[in-house]
Amino acid sequence: MSDVFAKCRLPGTYQFVKDLGVYPYYRAIEERPGGAEVLIDGRVLVQAGSNDYLGLSGDDRVKEAAVEATRRLGTGGGGSRLSNGSLALHEELEARLAAFLGRAAAMVTSSGYLANLALAALVGPEDTVIGDRLIHACLIDAVRLGGARLRRYRHNDMDHLERLLGACDPGAGRLIVTEGMFSTSGGVCDLPGIARLARAHGARVALDSAHDVGVLGASGRGAAEHHGLEDAVDVQTVTFSKALGTVGGAVAGPEEIIAYLRHYARSMVFTAALPPACAAAALAALDVVAAEPERRHRLRAAARRLSGELAAMGYGVVPSDRPVMAVPVGDDLLCFRLWRELFDEGVFATAMVAPGVPPGQALVRVSITAAHTEAHLDRIASAFAAARRMRLIPET
Ligand code: PMP
Repeated sequence: MSDVFAKCRLPGTYQFVKDLGVYPYYRAIEERPGGAEVLIDGRVLVQAGSNDYLGLSGDDRVKEAAVEATRRLGTGGGGSRLSNGSLALHEELEARLAAFLGRAAAMVTSSGYLANLALAALVGPEDTVIGDRLIHACLIDAVRLGGARLRRYRHNDMDHLERLLGACDPGAGRLIVTEGMFSTSGGVCDLPGIARLARAHGARVALDSAHDVGVLGASGRGAAEHHGLEDAVDVQTVTFSKALGTVGGAVAGPEEIIAYLRHYARSMVFTAALPPACAAAALAALDVVAAEPERRHRLRAAARRLSGELAAMGYGVVPSDRPVMAVPVGDDLLCFRLWRELFDEGVFATAMVAPGVPPGQALVRVSITAAHTEAHLDRIASAFAAARRMRLIPET
């Protein structure tokens, strides 16, 4: 008989990576001296891995809303939404989100992960979910929890998606799942292609707008608004942990679907309600998203500047106006080493290896926010310039 704990010995590679001094994970932030800086090991670094795209987690109005809600309603709801934990504040947030996203209804969950996991209730063993190769782990977990068949199409490859749709069992329900703005690359989904194929093959479309709400679209409604195709999306999930600066999530869609999820989504029914502070912070953040479009514009300009500079240095970054930049490295250890070089140069980026990205496609992820000043962008650019000494890229 084997011991279930036997698998838990720290994988040799990680010990090796620690011994080399390039282990990038669980680095504790001691202080956050400004919206775009962190104190780690007593050093101030530029935060270059946060999804707080609009810089709202440190915004006084958002913080005040959280503090006031905590004073009034306490630190936790004491139970699940279904039983005794629902607050009028949750309902207010649901109504606001539905109106903001242009959907009939919305259901607030305790995280973005749990919002996507709720999609499990929509599929069963008789259904096929066809997802982009780069979809987030929580969407894959939803398919597993629902027991549906999962097929993956090559990233944004509409010919491949079409083939997979054509190969579905004639009787199978079909759900196409994609992220709006992809979390690892900053690329935007091909919603026009997806909409066309969904119509042709009778498939539903679920859009995970975790990274695009507040960032893309004229009003910040995300990738569907960016493409002018909000009607092509059947259900949209969002998280509050990125542009909205707090924690929590939501599923938005038709009234009857949301009513169904409220009773059948395990990630809704069997977990504690979102704390008042987070619900109030999300509401305040939505006010800022609506009132200050200049944050999005500033963010896009900053992204254009930095991605252009990294590309010009020879890093394989695709220049764009999206705040997420992928610096492809390939090999895990090289990725950790590049991460460490940047860290030593005062920049706290993110090392991404499998399963966060496909195996062999390790990358350093850089994300910027509206809180970054030109001086912060300069520091990120000069850290990458210094890291050229690693000779990962051809010399210019
Ligand atoms: N979807 C995507 C695309 C994500 O990147 C993430 C988290 N990084 C989530 C969902 C989960 O959101 P949360 O962390 O707010 O639970």
